[in-house]
Amino acid sequence: MSALQRLGWSEFFQQQVAFDCADRLQLVRVVAEQRGLYAVSGEFNGWAEIGGRFRHEATSEARYPAVGDWLEVAAPPGAGRGVVHRRLDRRSVLSRSAAGRAAVEQVVAANVDTVFLVSAFPHDVNANRLERYLTMVWDGGGVPVVLLSKADLCEDAAEQATLLRGRLRFVDVVLVSAKAPDGLHALTPYLRPGHTIALLGSSGAGKSTMINRLLGRDALSTQAVRAADGRGRHTTTSRQLLEMPGGALLIDTPGMRELQPWGDESAVDRTFDDIAQLARHCRFTDCAHAAEPGCAVREAVTTGTLARERLVHYQRLVREAAFEAGKRDVHVALERKRRWKQVHQHQKELYRRREKP
Ligand code: GDP
Ligand code: ZN
Repeated sequence: MSALQRLGWSEFFQQQVAFDCADRLQLVRVVAEQRGLYAVSGEFNGWAEIGGRFRHEATSEARYPAVGDWLEVAAPPGAGRGVVHRRLDRRSVLSRSAAGRAAVEQVVAANVDTVFLVSAFPHDVNANRLERYLTMVWDGGGVPVVLLSKADLCEDAAEQATLLRGRLRFVDVVLVSAKAPDGLHALTPYLRPGHTIALLGSSGAGKSTMINRLLGRDALSTQAVRAADGRGRHTTTSRQLLEMPGGALLIDTPGMRELQPWGDESAVDRTFDDIAQLARHCRFTDCAHAAEPGCAVREAVTTGTLARERLVHYQRLVREAAFEAGKRDVHVALERKRRWKQVHQHQKELYRRREKP
């Protein structure tokens, strides 16, 4: 296996570069990003910055490199820093809409092959939420695998997994435990050398514990690894793309941990079943449980059957979900417009050529 293959290089990227060119640029993969500078590994190891031409041509934030991207950089011998000339096309992305900014796509990681969706027994396993995560991963071009973690805490873990398999077809559902001796054995088939993985899931699901075990370090030594990572340079950047003992690669960026699929209102309803039940008895079917007459939900708060905080929490979530849905619509609309613009430009170009003698 070549050094580039160990970093995840494959046929898909190979096809995008001209290898026979005598003075071709160096191929590198982004292993960390910090304030617009990229730590890269490959045919050049060190820091790289965006070249002027690249900046000029990058029309949106999502076009800039992200951790996991393959780049062509120019780094003459002796140069302290490489200059990024080109980003190769991505095989997959994990992205989100940038916080607080409608319809701006932010790429959290690129070229992730397999995404482990981690949910913990007993309370965190939720098929509806998993379905939203699955959609998000598939949309980005990655392959999801559902991990049911903390299997040691659940007596009927195997049955639960079987139930979920019936519900989520087209995806592997794997039982794991970061605490049991062979608890991560079932992951071996996914951890092939040069294969890039990432972990997503709610906080407390056991991701950090699992990552530490997969990387063969214990939680306490994590800090030490990070501190030693600067290789003499004064920087606090830790690598966000790491090689595991067996040769698989793990992407763990800060943004990854907070990555959530875009919300939809029906999903909020499902987590507030009690309120949804009560709402059936409201006089108006579209009751917002605010000031409407005949509201069964507020009635339940008055009589003490429903906690007031729960209603407040529900209303806040509904507002947020509506907001996210709105942003997503804008995003979709913009994307469609951009595509059509390209199609139209292409057509114009064709007509122009045809008119020429
Ligand atoms: P994260 O927020 O997803 O990174 O979750 P952590 O890795 O910090 O784990 C949250 C808690 O669950 C910690 O107290 C862990 O010790 C515990 N935990 C993680 N994995 C397991 C497991 O497989 N079994 C059990 N019993 N506890 C676990
Ligand atoms: Zn109501």
